[in-house]
Amino acid sequence: MHKLSQTNYFKEEQVKILSKRGIKTIQDLLYYLPRRYIDRSKPLELKDTRVGDVVTFIGQVKNSNVIYARRRRLMVQVSYRGLTIELVFFQGIPYFQKILSIGVEAAFSGAIDMFRGKFTITHPEIEIMSGDKLIHTGKIIPLYKITDAMRKQYITSRALREVMYKVLLDYRDKMTEHIPIKILEAERLMKIEEAFQVLHFPMSMNDIEQAKSRLAFDELIVFSSLIRDKKSKREEITRSHIFEQDSILWPQKLVKSLPFQLTGDQQNAIETLRRLSLRSFPYGALLQGDVGSGKTLVGLMCALQYMEQGIQVALMAPTEILARQHYRSFIDLLFDFPFIQVELLLGKEKVADKKMKIDRLKRGDTLLVVGTHSLIQTDVEFSSLGLIIIDEQHRFGVEQREALRSKGQHPDLLAMTATPIPRSLTLTLYGDFETILIKEKPPGRLPIDTRLFEEDEISKLYMGVKKYVDQGRQAYIVYPIIDESDKSRWASIMADYDYLEKKVFKDYRLGLLHGRLSTEEKDRAMVKFKEGLIQVLVTTTVVEVGVDVPNATLMLIRNAEKFGLSQLHQLRGRVGRGEHQSFCILVKSKSCTSEGELRLEAMVESEDGFYLARRDLEIRGTGELLGLKQAGISEFKVADLRFHSKIAERAAAIIEQNDDLYRRIKNSKDWKKYPDDFRLLV
Ligand code: ADP
Ligand code: MG
Repeated sequence: MHKLSQTNYFKEEQVKILSKRGIKTIQDLLYYLPRRYIDRSKPLELKDTRVGDVVTFIGQVKNSNVIYARRRRLMVQVSYRGLTIELVFFQGIPYFQKILSIGVEAAFSGAIDMFRGKFTITHPEIEIMSGDKLIHTGKIIPLYKITDAMRKQYITSRALREVMYKVLLDYRDKMTEHIPIKILEAERLMKIEEAFQVLHFPMSMNDIEQAKSRLAFDELIVFSSLIRDKKSKREEITRSHIFEQDSILWPQKLVKSLPFQLTGDQQNAIETLRRLSLRSFPYGALLQGDVGSGKTLVGLMCALQYMEQGIQVALMAPTEILARQHYRSFIDLLFDFPFIQVELLLGKEKVADKKMKIDRLKRGDTLLVVGTHSLIQTDVEFSSLGLIIIDEQHRFGVEQREALRSKGQHPDLLAMTATPIPRSLTLTLYGDFETILIKEKPPGRLPIDTRLFEEDEISKLYMGVKKYVDQGRQAYIVYPIIDESDKSRWASIMADYDYLEKKVFKDYRLGLLHGRLSTEEKDRAMVKFKEGLIQVLVTTTVVEVGVDVPNATLMLIRNAEKFGLSQLHQLRGRVGRGEHQSFCILVKSKSCTSEGELRLEAMVESEDGFYLARRDLEIRGTGELLGLKQAGISEFKVADLRFHSKIAERAAAIIEQNDDLYRRIKNSKDWKKYPDDFRLLV
């Protein structure tokens, strides 16, 4: 479609500003969708709002005056359906005074607060409405995101609306429809021109969702095509090592030496991975299994198959604590394999030690190396890296994964995660990965008793912890932050530790573990805790992943509302690993938001990681979830996998089956926009 500079919807200066925001063509402009809509038929009910909620409403300025108090401020009274809402400005007072003169009608949005019985909003976003003809055409008013630079060039919501109106008239018949009408009908999707019309000038809120679905579908179709492309390219690679059908002596030997039986799901996972390793091209596999489901062992079983052939395996873990733990458990598990050289490679080590370790890797003496990000440093080389295992893979960026992968000749990749992701996300994020699930946990695990308490009950809760420790168990007390800070309202280790050590738990052996301790201190604390020398471990989320101390059966989490749902689930996974009944005590503060409340309720309700992942998606949205942003998924303009998971699945299925459409998408302009950002993705 046309470049904006070749049309005359905007002045030259305006075109420049828009182009800086990435709006260069008519298509870009149409995709500049309203950020908010105000539905006049469904007015804002202030009595239903809570402090902190972000609200948007159209009000009229009644009065404004500058107050010369301790801090000078401008107070503007706005009337909205018979109520008065007070706006407060500390900065830019003359400017706001000028634009918010009495009688002006504007859309305001911001977080609502309550002060002396009045609703107030500090520094709201403002969109002047007076004199806007188009706002009276419908009940729903779209608001665009307007930057200061745009405003200076008179590109306001109102101005944009007027241009959009013209553009939609002019281009209605000129838009290319990539999706065959048959598919649109079958999927009950709008035509593209209708979708844009609705999004910029909606008649009802319902239509907006419909129209968004259509645009989301387009994005997901392109995305699915990229995945198909990626997949077929990978299938053209020939693997550097070929496995004999029956070379599984070492894995069999390990199984025989175990004091327990593999669960059915573990066996299936191992079997599936083995099948993948027999194909002609390297695999990428995502092993999803809830905390405590025994993924490490699955990883080791796979690794043995490679090592048996003299091929090296690297396992990368997100924290030193976890890397050490894996290293130790591998040494234990591989007791009957004294000829396997296992190495631990961490960040801070003596130069000489490190050099020796790296040399052994380079020569191929070391078959199995366990490490942190240290593995991807440039001086680390392998002689024959055939399998990469990434533990808690959601903690790594795609670049890190790729950096490690580039150290071998197309090695296989096994990514493990205890943070299950809903299918729609797997499809997009790991489209060309084989996903393998472990649902079953080793037998004999008791459910964890999870309860929610208010902060003012903390003394009583500490009594409970002591009683429990007296029975011989160990406990974690998890804090959201290390240092006390004026700004935050969170409990902190530094503020509390003395008090806990000298008063509350003075007759108990307390330990401290957090991210700012040195490696040795961390290690010492972990070992002491593991050996039972520490009874109560005061800690942060450094224990979040992987830590395995079966006798620790109680976890108390301060300011539990501060943590994300998957984080809470991971934390809770530290308990419930032994024969004793385990407890997870969530303590929330008074300032817990409604969203926080929902998360904590979900935790009490369920222990099923898959359920929690779904809830998390509903509560939070995809952006923040599992580092999606970092993975580049925020490239989607419209698609939001919270709402569009069905569409994502349909799009994937359609592209899988429809060669014509796939080819057509590959030849479209949209295709060319993606690959650079996308390349890193899978
Ligand atoms: P995760 O999947 O969270 O990484 P781990 O691999 O740390 O779980 O395993 C948790 C614990 O369960 C470990 O102590 C491990 O030895 C043990 N385990 C693994 N598989 C089994 C099994 N089949 N039966 C009993 N215990 C097992
Ligand atoms: Mg693990």
